[in-house]
Amino acid sequence: QEDLFKNVISHAKEYGYIFASSEIYDGLSAVYDYGQNGAELKKNIKEYWWRSMTQLHQNIVGIDAAILMHPTTWKASGHVDAFNDPLIDNKDSKKRYRADVLVEDYAEKLLQKAEKEIEKARKRFDDFDEEMFKNTNPRVQRYLGDRKEILERLARSLTNEDLADVKALIEELEIADPETGSKNWTEVRQFNLMFGTKLGASADSATQLYLRPETAQGIFVNFLNVQKTGRMKIPFGIAQIGKAFRNEIVARQFIFRMREFEQMEMQFFVRPGEELEWYEKWKETRLNWHKSLGLGEENYRFHDHEKLAHYANAAADIEFNFPFGFKELEGIHSRTDFDLKAHEEFSGKKLRFYDPELKENYVPYVIETSIGLDRMFLAVLSSSLKEEDLGDGNTRTVLKLPAVLAPTKAAILPLIKRDGLPELAQQIVDDLKWDFRVQYDEKDAIGRRYRRQDAAGTPLCITVDHESLEDKAVTVRFRDSMEQKRVPISEVKALIAKETDF
Ligand code: ATP
Repeated sequence: QEDLFKNVISHAKEYGYIFASSEIYDGLSAVYDYGQNGAELKKNIKEYWWRSMTQLHQNIVGIDAAILMHPTTWKASGHVDAFNDPLIDNKDSKKRYRADVLVEDYAEKLLQKAEKEIEKARKRFDDFDEEMFKNTNPRVQRYLGDRKEILERLARSLTNEDLADVKALIEELEIADPETGSKNWTEVRQFNLMFGTKLGASADSATQLYLRPETAQGIFVNFLNVQKTGRMKIPFGIAQIGKAFRNEIVARQFIFRMREFEQMEMQFFVRPGEELEWYEKWKETRLNWHKSLGLGEENYRFHDHEKLAHYANAAADIEFNFPFGFKELEGIHSRTDFDLKAHEEFSGKKLRFYDPELKENYVPYVIETSIGLDRMFLAVLSSSLKEEDLGDGNTRTVLKLPAVLAPTKAAILPLIKRDGLPELAQQIVDDLKWDFRVQYDEKDAIGRRYRRQDAAGTPLCITVDHESLEDKAVTVRFRDSMEQKRVPISEVKALIAKETDF
C-alpha cells in the first residue's frame, strides 16, 4: 500500500497531473500545483459535481462568493474562537503533531489488527460467518472494544476542551512519535488554523482579515440575497465551489491535507424539525453520487460522528479507501440554525424565511454537504492507477479514470508519419475538437503511443492507417479492455459521446 501511494505521487508528476508548488525553490509544504492534465481532471470533477447539484436539482442554485469576507463573519461563525486543532510536540524529535490524529491513528491500528484476525479465520474456515466471528472471538472483541472506548474518550475530551485528558490518553496508550519512536511529549494546546492577512495600506489603519477556512460562510451571508432574487422556496439549496485555506499543523499525505485547497459545498435550507429527515436523504444522495463514478462501492463507508461540532446535531463522513486507509472524503452535517442565527445576532439583520404554507417566519435549519475537491481528485487518481499483468510476460501501467472525468477523451494517431495519414488524422482532430478534448500524437511506434495514452488515462485511441484512406474508417482502441474495432469516421463523434458523456 505504501508503494502504491508512492507510485501515485510519482505518476501524478510524470504525467502532468500534480507538481509541488514553486518546485524550483524546493516547494512549499502542503501546497501543490495542478499540471496540464491535472487541471483538466480537476475541472471535470468540478463540472460533475456542479451539474449534479445545480442542473439535476431544480431547487439548488450555485454562487461564487469572494475569498475575503468582512472579519465579523468569522467571529459570528465561531472560527475566531474555536477553529482550533489540538497540538502536541515531541520534546526529543521537536516534531509537531495533531494530538487527536495521533490517537485516531492508534485506534485505526486496532481496527486493522481486528481485520487481520478476521482475514486469518476466513482462510481457515470454509463456511465462515463474519458477523458470528466478530461477536464471539475474544481477540477481535478486545481490539474493537478498546478502539471504541479510546475514540469515545477522545471525542469527550475534545468536546469539553479537556486537553489534559488528551495528553493523558496519549501517555496511557504509550503512543510514540511515528518517526522516531520517542514518547517524550509536551502538553497539548490549541492552535487556530485561520490564515490572517491585512486590508489597507498603512500598518495602523489596516484591518485584520482572514482567508476563508471554508466556503460555507459565503453562502450563509448571501442566504437572503439568493432566496429573494431567485424567489426560492424552502426547501432549497445553495452550492459553491472555491478555495479555502487552513494553516494545518501537520501537512502530509500529498494532496489529502493541504494548506490551500478547494471545497465543493452545498447548504440545503429546510424547515426546523425536518432537518434529520433531510440529513438522511443527503447522506444517501451523496453516497450514490460517489458510486455513480464506478471507483468501486467497497471503497466507501460512512463514519457517523460521536463528537459533534458546536453547531451540529448530526454529522457523518463518507470515508474513502485511500492508499493509506479509509479517511474522510466528504462531510455531511446537520448544522441546525446555528450559522444563520449567529449572523443575525452579529449583523443585526434578519435572516428569515416567510413560509407561505405555515404562514410563519423562521430561521431555516441547514444540511451541509462538504467535499474536498483535491481529496476527491486523490480518490479518483489513486483508485484508477493500475499495474496490469498482460499475461505474456508484459505489464502495462493504466490510469482507468472514469471516462467522463478523463482530461483527454481520445487520442488521434496516424499509424505512420507519411502517405497522407497525418493529414487525415489532423482532419479528424479538427472535426472533433469542437466537442471533445482530443490530442494528436504521431511520435514513436503505435504500441508505445497506446501505452502513453493508457498511462495518461485517455479512454479511446483512434488510429488512422492506409486502409482509412480507402474505407473511410479508423481503428478505435478501448483503454480498459484493449479491444479494437473498426468504425466509420462518420460515426466516431457519436461513439466518443457515448463512451465519455455524463
Ligand atoms: P479533517 O478532519 O480531515 O481535518 P475536517 O473535518 O476539518 O477534515 P471539514 O471542515 O468538514 O473537514 O471540511 C470538509 C471537507 O473539506 C473535508 O471532508 C475534506 O474533504 C476537505 N478538507 C478539509 N481540510 C482539508 C485540507 N487541509 N486539505 C484538503 N482538503 C480538506
